[in-house]
Amino acid sequence: MPSLPSIFISHGPPTLLLDPAPVRDFLAKLGETLGRPDAIICVSAHWNTETPAISTAENPETIYDFYNFPPALYEATYPAPGAPDVAKRASDLLCEGGITADLDPDRGLDHGTWSPLKLMYPDADIPVTQLSMQWPQSPGHHLAIGRALRPLRDEGVLVLASGNVTHNLGDAIGACRAGQADDPPPDWARDFAAWLAESIESGAVDDLLDYRKRAPGATHANPEDDHLMPLYVALGAGDESGKGRRIHQSYLFRSLSMDAFAFGE
Ligand code: ZN
Repeated sequence: MPSLPSIFISHGPPTLLLDPAPVRDFLAKLGETLGRPDAIICVSAHWNTETPAISTAENPETIYDFYNFPPALYEATYPAPGAPDVAKRASDLLCEGGITADLDPDRGLDHGTWSPLKLMYPDADIPVTQLSMQWPQSPGHHLAIGRALRPLRDEGVLVLASGNVTHNLGDAIGACRAGQADDPPPDWARDFAAWLAESIESGAVDDLLDYRKRAPGATHANPEDDHLMPLYVALGAGDESGKGRRIHQSYLFRSLSMDAFAFGE
């Protein structure tokens, strides 16, 4: 099997499962584009632990880690089997990279994982494990995790990172309340997303690691950068060039950039 790319996606809100949007169409096609991996390891912005943890759950439960959303979303499930063997392999690879990871037999799938996977692979028949992130540790920490996991791409495992390119919820909620969700994105969101894509496509890894100082609109686009951190895992799991390709671009709720990237193609 040829090497799989590592992928970063912007997952947006769980209502993506209910409401039409360009990013929903993109995710619905992405599984077909990528083909069917043997297993998926997903680092989600919604699982944060002090040190890396990987789920060894045999049948990971669907976690409803969101509040005041339509009832249909609390009835949705994603009953994919777990991937404890992949979790153990990932733990070994991290260990070889000098990173200690805990195995968690109980952790299920949060909405950063199951909501996009329900669009990408609706049959829920591909084994899935989740990997935690360590926000607010540095981009470099997450890049090192990705680099350690790079061999998984040659072993039929899709390394999927799920966050958001911009994540200023104050602006997004404000835009929705004011009926401005479909307005053009503000300059800080557009400038940041453009800088990020250019840096990724040119392999400017040093700039990316120092993005908070070097990127236009960085602190506005990501007042807290928990949703950007998974990107660095996908970047690290790519290849030595550090280059990636933007495979989707759109906005939700005025300023949420829903861009996606592929690395190591
Ligand atoms: Zn999220």
